[in-house]
Amino acid sequence: MLSQKLHDAINAQVNAELWSAYLYLSMSLDAEAKGHKGVANWFYVQFQEEQAHARIFMNYLNSVDAKVELLPIEAVPSAWDSVLDMFRQTLEHEKKVTSLINNLAAIADADKDYASINRLAWFIDEQVEEEESAREMICAFEAVEGNKYGMYMLDKELGARVYNVPSPLAASAE
Ligand code: MG
Repeated sequence: MLSQKLHDAINAQVNAELWSAYLYLSMSLDAEAKGHKGVANWFYVQFQEEQAHARIFMNYLNSVDAKVELLPIEAVPSAWDSVLDMFRQTLEHEKKVTSLINNLAAIADADKDYASINRLAWFIDEQVEEEESAREMICAFEAVEGNKYGMYMLDKELGARVYNVPSPLAASAE
């Protein structure tokens, strides 16, 4: 059984994941509006992943008989100066999410709540990947800054990214 403190914190995390989804959808739309279709695709996949993260937390609350309370989703920015700026903000945002996940793990640890610790382990690994991929994108876009052909080719490459259902959801669909 979840402590009230962890229940409230996971519930807040559902909202944080949905806010992340909304942020990346906004980046996708801004990229599309500026003609960067590949970047728009990359952020659209990110939008889908964040919705999946929210779903994993909702499924977890349901499975331990804790009610999900949906809260209002705050507004997100709607325009960025450049694609590089989007990825820099993505990295900063993911670092904040990492600290939120670490805080959930710290509560579960203090509660000696081993089921929650196990569920959160997946998210801890996921955050390492999220920060790494944002850093890789920053490097790639820094490398082509001011180079229209390089930007065109990189945008094309990002157009190939496809959404994969995260393993906790793939497992529950079996
Ligand atoms: Mg997330």
